[in-house]
Amino acid sequence: MAFPYKKMDETDYDFIRSVTSPDRVAVGAEIADEYYHDEMPNYGIFPPELYVEAETKEEISKIMAYCNEHNIPVVIRGAGSGLAGGANCKYGGVMLSIMRMNKIWPVDHKNQTITVQPGALLLDVQAAAAAEGLFYPPDPGEKTATIGGNVITNAGGMKAVRYGLTRDFVRCIEAVLPDGSIERFSSNVVKNTTGYDIKDLVIGSEGTLCVVTEITLKLLPAPNCTCTLVMPFHSLEECADMVPKVLELPFVPTAIEFLERELIDIVERNLHKPFPVKEGEAVLIVMYDASSQQELDNAVEAAAEAALANGAIDCCIANTPERAGSVWEVRGGILEGMKADSVSQEECDVVVPRSCIAQYVKDAKRIASSLGLRVEPCGHCGDGNIHTEMLRGNDMTDEEWESATGECLRQLYALSKELGGQLSGEHGIGNGRIEYLKEFVGPRMIRLYKAIKLAFDENLILNPGKIIEYNE
Ligand SMILES: Cc1cc2nc3c(=O)[nH]c(=O)nc-3n(C[C@H](O)[C@H](O)[C@H](O)COP(=O)(O)OP(=O)(O)OC[C@H]3O[C@@H](n4cnc5c(N)ncnc54)[C@H](O)[C@@H]3O)c2cc1C
Repeated sequence: MAFPYKKMDETDYDFIRSVTSPDRVAVGAEIADEYYHDEMPNYGIFPPELYVEAETKEEISKIMAYCNEHNIPVVIRGAGSGLAGGANCKYGGVMLSIMRMNKIWPVDHKNQTITVQPGALLLDVQAAAAAEGLFYPPDPGEKTATIGGNVITNAGGMKAVRYGLTRDFVRCIEAVLPDGSIERFSSNVVKNTTGYDIKDLVIGSEGTLCVVTEITLKLLPAPNCTCTLVMPFHSLEECADMVPKVLELPFVPTAIEFLERELIDIVERNLHKPFPVKEGEAVLIVMYDASSQQELDNAVEAAAEAALANGAIDCCIANTPERAGSVWEVRGGILEGMKADSVSQEECDVVVPRSCIAQYVKDAKRIASSLGLRVEPCGHCGDGNIHTEMLRGNDMTDEEWESATGECLRQLYALSKELGGQLSGEHGIGNGRIEYLKEFVGPRMIRLYKAIKLAFDENLILNPGKIIEYNE
C-alpha cells in the first residue's frame, strides 16, 4: 500500500459525506486556501482533496478505517498554528479538522484533573481551570492553538522553566488509530508502569501515529501572586550570561526570556505595542510565581540584587497586571512583528543545555553574520530553547535567501549538536525540518523511527511525509 496513494473520487467523497454530513465536507476548489498550510507556508503549501469537520470519535474511526482500506492519506488539523509545516496534505487526500470537538468537561476536583476534547482551545482550558481556582500551567505563545495540537506537538512555551511541558500535564489520551480502532493510553492515574508507555510516545508525534480524540490533563493549585522583572543589559550576550545566575538562586523562576532591542523596536513599530523599559541593547525578562507575597518579595529581591551585581543597567519590577501585560505582549508579538517587518522569515528552534546558552548565542550571531543574514536569537532562554529567527531583507534574491538560510540552519544545527543540544525544542520536525533531522539523528535512529511509525500505521496513511519520509 502507500505510494502512490489513491486519487480520491466521488465514491470516496460520498462515503465521507455519509458518515458525517454534507455541510461539513468541502472538496477541491471549495476548500479555503488557509487549509493548504500552517503558520509556516514556506514549509509546504499542499491542498487537500477533501476537507471534513468531524464531530465524534466514531466518525473519525469510520473515516480512518475507510481511508486505511482505500489507501487515502489523512492529515489532522487543529487550529493550524503549527510552526513545522505539519498540518498540510503533502500527498493530497483528506484534511480532517477536529475544531468542532471542543467540549470541556467539569473539573474533577478529587483527581485535580480536567478532561477535554482535542479541539478545545488552550485559552479556554486555562480559563476553565482558573474558574475553579486551579491552574493549567503550560503556556505556549499561541493561546488559540488547540489542546490536541499542544499535546501532539508536546508544546512548550515560556513557563516550562518552572512547570515543564505539555507532556508533564497529560494523564491519559484517547485516540483513533489509523485502522479505525479506538484506544486509551493510560488512565487517570498518577503513576503507570503497565507495559510500554504509549502515551508518552504519542505525545509529540506530530499527528503521524494516531488521532487524539480526548485528553485528561493534570491541574495544579493556582499561585497566589506573580511578578515580572525586566533587566536591561548592554548586549544579548550579557543577558545570556545572566541566565545561569538566575537559575542558581534558591527560587525557581516561572519564565526567563530574552529580547534584543532591535526585536522590541520591530514589535513596537509594526504592532504599536510599547515596551515599558527603554534602556539597554537587550533585556532579560524574568517571571516568578509564589504562594505568598513574602515568598515573592524574597525571590524578586534576590533576582534584582543578582542582576545589578552582574552588569544589569537596572532591574524594573512590573508588579501590576498592566505593566506585566505590556512586557509580555511585546514578547508575544515577536512572530507577528517579524512577519510585518520582513519579506520572509526562517526559524531555528534548537534547544541547548542551559550551561551553553551564552556560547550558542555568541556562535549563532557569528555564523549568521558570516553568511550576511539578519538574525535574532530570542525566546525561551531559561530552558535553553533559543528561537533563532532569520529575517529576509528586501535586497536579497530568492536564491541568495534560500542558500544563506539553508547553510545557516545546517551550521546552527551542527553547533547545537556539538554543544549537546537538540534540533527542535518545541516546534517539531513536520515537513520543514525533515532533511535536517536525518543528518542530526543518523541512519540507525531513522530506522527506529520508521519501525515505530509502521507499528501504528502499517499503510502509512496518517500525515505521511512528516518527521520521516518513506517515498525515497
Ligand atoms: C504566535 C505563535 C506562537 C507560538 N508559540 C509557541 C510556543 O511558545 N511553544 C510551542 O511549542 N509552540 C508554539 N507555537 C506553535 C503552535 O501554536 C503549537 O505547535 C501548537 O501546539 C499547534 O496547535 P494547533 O492546534 O494549531 O495544531 P495544528 O497546527 O493544526 O497541527 C499541528 C500538528 O499536529 C497534528 N494534529 C493537530 N491536532 C491533532 C489531533 N487531535 N490528533 C492528531 N494530530 C493532530 C497536525 O496534523 C499537525 O501535524 C506558536 C505558534 C504561533 C503562531
